[in-house]
Amino acid sequence: MRIGVLGGGQLARMLALAGHPLGMSFVFVDPAADACAQSLGQHQISDWSGEHLIEALAGCDRVTFDFENVPAHTLTQLTDHFNVAPSAKALSISQDRLDEKALFHDHGMAVAPHAAVSDRPGLLAALADLGCPAILKTRRMGYDGKGQYRLDTPEDCEPAWQTMAEAPGGLILEQRVPFTAECALTAVRSQHGEVRFYPLTWTHHEAGILRFALGGARWLESFQHQAEAQVRPILEALGYVGAMTVELFVTETGLVVNEMAPRVHNSAHWTIDGAVCSQFENHLRAIADLPLGATAATGAALMINFIGQLPSTDALAVPGLHWHAYGKAPRPGRKVGHATWVVDDESSLMAGLDGLGPAMDANAFQALTGWIKSVG
Ligand code: ATP
Ligand code: MG
Repeated sequence: MRIGVLGGGQLARMLALAGHPLGMSFVFVDPAADACAQSLGQHQISDWSGEHLIEALAGCDRVTFDFENVPAHTLTQLTDHFNVAPSAKALSISQDRLDEKALFHDHGMAVAPHAAVSDRPGLLAALADLGCPAILKTRRMGYDGKGQYRLDTPEDCEPAWQTMAEAPGGLILEQRVPFTAECALTAVRSQHGEVRFYPLTWTHHEAGILRFALGGARWLESFQHQAEAQVRPILEALGYVGAMTVELFVTETGLVVNEMAPRVHNSAHWTIDGAVCSQFENHLRAIADLPLGATAATGAALMINFIGQLPSTDALAVPGLHWHAYGKAPRPGRKVGHATWVVDDESSLMAGLDGLGPAMDANAFQALTGWIKSVG
């Protein structure tokens, strides 16, 4: 089976790594000449618009995407020619934070109090209403914390407006949720409506970018049922096919939803090495109409993102550590790889934490140990 992927970044690359053993071949459509998935399939250097896309994807049995900012109308057009999943509708809703929050709210999920902002007086009024601290975000095109401005006091209004006013597609002001932790629920839904959930992932972001994720964290088990009950109706309402991740805040009054990603997601990279069947393989199984794989964690799986550059490979000496280099040139703030360390359980993780020192710089290691010990 031939899979067309709009986007040729690390997510496309990991999809292909999961798909080759299933006998799949891949076409990646990406405008970047050095798209990092290219060594795993055919690379069509192209953007994601226009008639030539149909030609670029010729012969593909399924079409999917690894990038949330592919134009939704492109997917709609492709649907006339190809079997496309996830749907243009799911993608389109996820591309606008306001629509996304409306979907969650309409299905009974708690979201951060928020308001659409279109001008300076609107920002002042929204901040007066929602209060500080708050976050001003672009409604569209944000990722890895880009397109966000944090407001701590009303005086931050003016610099926030100056920085964000030109964003195309409008702005949204969100109350800053006083979370005790962040987590993410990754689900996969088949073409026949079968849904499987991975164990909740405990996540840690810094400056809006995911740094660490722990799959199968024991302390999150008590939230699993609530999270699944909240996310399932969203999958049903969208008639969703494929893998999806929903990011959640854990607060003293329960779960508050942040956003959804209608694709494979960084928070679930641990499933490659730490779950029976990875999110990548399950995404492909779902869109290819194959039986879904088991989503259970095989132990405690800690994922560390490599941001900017790869660390020393000395960490490969740690038993149970799996290395994933994306083949990307180093650049500040860029996700260039990750490692997943899989151990039997969280007590082994705590006991062996010091061994991970070589896998990161001293600051990152300090952040990791501080985070892991924060919930205990
Ligand atoms: P990504 O696509 O990488 O998940 P993003 O750029 O779409 O990120 P968000 O997920 O909205 O942005 O925000 C990134 C991080 O910023 C969140 O994981 C969280 O740590 C923090 N954050 C965002 N919105 C809020 C909020 N309303 N209250 C508290 N923290 C928030
Ligand atoms: Mg996010």
